[in-house]
Amino acid sequence: MRVLTVGIDIGGTKIAGGVVDSDGRILDKGRVDTPADTAELAAAVVAMARSYIDRYDAVAVGVAAAGFIDKAQATVIHAPNIAWRNEPLKAVLEAGIGRPVTIENDANAAGWAEFRFGAGSTVDDMVMLTMGTGVGGAVIIGGRMFHGGHGIAGELGHMRFTRNGLPCGCGQNGCLEQYASGRALQREAGAIADSGGIGETLARARSEHGGLTGHVISELILAGDPGALEALRRVATALGEACGGFQAVLDPELFVIGGGVAQLGDILLEPVRLAYETSLPGYGERPVADFAIARLGNDAGLIGVADLAGREA
Ligand SMILES: [Zn+2]
Repeated sequence: MRVLTVGIDIGGTKIAGGVVDSDGRILDKGRVDTPADTAELAAAVVAMARSYIDRYDAVAVGVAAAGFIDKAQATVIHAPNIAWRNEPLKAVLEAGIGRPVTIENDANAAGWAEFRFGAGSTVDDMVMLTMGTGVGGAVIIGGRMFHGGHGIAGELGHMRFTRNGLPCGCGQNGCLEQYASGRALQREAGAIADSGGIGETLARARSEHGGLTGHVISELILAGDPGALEALRRVATALGEACGGFQAVLDPELFVIGGGVAQLGDILLEPVRLAYETSLPGYGERPVADFAIARLGNDAGLIGVADLAGREA
C-alpha cells in the first residue's frame, strides 16, 4: 500500500503545499498567500493540510519554515520573516489537523529532498547550499540530517566568512550569505556597473530595466558579458572558498547547490570548484567532493518535509 503524506512549505509571501508519495512524487499541489497574522497563518496551514488529508487520506503532515527550530522539532524559537517567538508550532498545528505534524527548517527540508530523491540520492554525506536571497544550508551526515546540539545546526549562510564584513540580517557581520547569495550577485553587479570598463553593459542594462534584477544579470552572464561574469566569479569564489572550509570540518562526498543562482548550472559550478579546490587543506593529497546542481527546484522544501513526516509516522 502506498503511503501518502502532506508537505507544506511556509515562505515569506506564499505557502506551498502538496501531497507526496514515498518516492518523492507530488500528486497534487497548491499555493496560498502567507497571512501576516500568526493565528491566520496557522489556520491557513491547517485548512490546506486538512483539504489534502480529506481527499488523499494522507497519514502525516510535514511543515517547513525558515527559522530556528528547537531540538524536539516542536517549537519555532525564532523566525526571520514571520512573527514567531518560541511558537509551539507542532502542538498548534496538530490540534487543528488531527494528524502527526513534523516541523523542519526549510533549508534542511530542501536538502533532505535532494538527498533522498534528487542530486544527492547516491551519497551518504552531503552538504546543500541554497543561493537565494540569502544562503540556506543543510548538512546530512551518515544518511541523517544533522541538527546539532540545539536543533539549529546547518545555518551555513551565517558562518562568518570575513571579519569586519558587511552587516547581516542575523545581527552579525561578515556572514557568508552577504558574499555568496543572489543578493550578493546583484550587489557585485551594481558595483561593477559603477566602475566603468567591463561594467558598461551592466550599467546600460541597469538604466534600461530600472535596476539589475537576478534575471537581467543571468541573461548577461549567459550572453558572456565580461562584467556580469566577473560579478558571478566573485560570488562563486566566495561560495567555493567557504566549501573548502566546510570540507575541512565535515568532509562531505558531495555539495549540492540550489536556489535561483544555481539555474546557471556549470557556469556557476566551474568557478565554485576552482575556489573550493584552491581553498582545501592538503589539496592534491586528499579526496575531494563533487559538486552538483539541485534538481527539485522550488518543490524541494515540501517534498523533503513530506518525506520526513512519513518517516516519523
Ligand atoms: Zn548572518
